[in-house]
Amino acid sequence: MDNGLIDIRNACKTYHLGEVEIHAVRGVDVTIPHGQFVAVTGASGSGKSTFMHLLGCLDRLTSGTYLFEGRPIERLSRRQLAALRNRRIGFVFQSFNLLPRTTILENVALPLMYQGVGRRERRRRAQEMLERVGLADRTRHHSNQLSGGQQQRVAIARALVTRPPVVLADEPTGNLDSATSIEIMNLFQALNRDEGVSIVLVTHEAEIAAYASRQLVFKDGKIIRDGTHSAGPIGGGANSAA
Ligand code: ADP
Ligand code: MG
Repeated sequence: MDNGLIDIRNACKTYHLGEVEIHAVRGVDVTIPHGQFVAVTGASGSGKSTFMHLLGCLDRLTSGTYLFEGRPIERLSRRQLAALRNRRIGFVFQSFNLLPRTTILENVALPLMYQGVGRRERRRRAQEMLERVGLADRTRHHSNQLSGGQQQRVAIARALVTRPPVVLADEPTGNLDSATSIEIMNLFQALNRDEGVSIVLVTHEAEIAAYASRQLVFKDGKIIRDGTHSAGPIGGGANSAA
């Protein structure tokens, strides 16, 4: 039976700043099946990043329940959560977060090292993912020798090298110009379509959100709209009218 990927019920996250309580996420219900491409949108401060931290098991719910692939997250220890993040979730950030003075092959292979995969196999799988994101000829470069768009491709390869069922991306095009943003969104779309990986992507830009097939709109810590549409690429257009 497919338990689905994500099932989050009445999720709340409250931050305490001295005397002040900040209700960053207040009562969110979402189920996400395997293979979906979801955009999380909303104004700055609406709770998007907090929600992503909850989904990524980087932070615990203040109240509510979270099933990831049918497993209740609140019952897992810190160690079990770390293992789950490493094996089952890929992360992509606005600022790429690559190691400098390290080849991109080693950057991509790093999550496999934490899993105890041997050196030769790590390199083989990292090479394969770098080919998938169009950087086969750059594997020996250091990350600081690449453009922003290339660095984000490396980060995407690193997120996928463990073959997780889902990638979580928080404003992945936030540091990129619009042409490069389109390239990166086309890559996410192709990975979702061809590899079946689920993608949950935070953005405050409508043009970026349009690449997803479902949009969750946040306002004041709540989802105010949950819409599915059959949109394809608005930037790519390669497979629109063939
Ligand atoms: P978004 O990503 O949509 O801009 P966030 O999830 O970052 O929104 O923030 C939601 C609310 O929670 C904001 O009011 C923000 O100031 C607050 N917040 C976020 N992170 C923290 C934190 N670590 N401590 C206290 N308040 C926080
Ligand atoms: Mg944010």
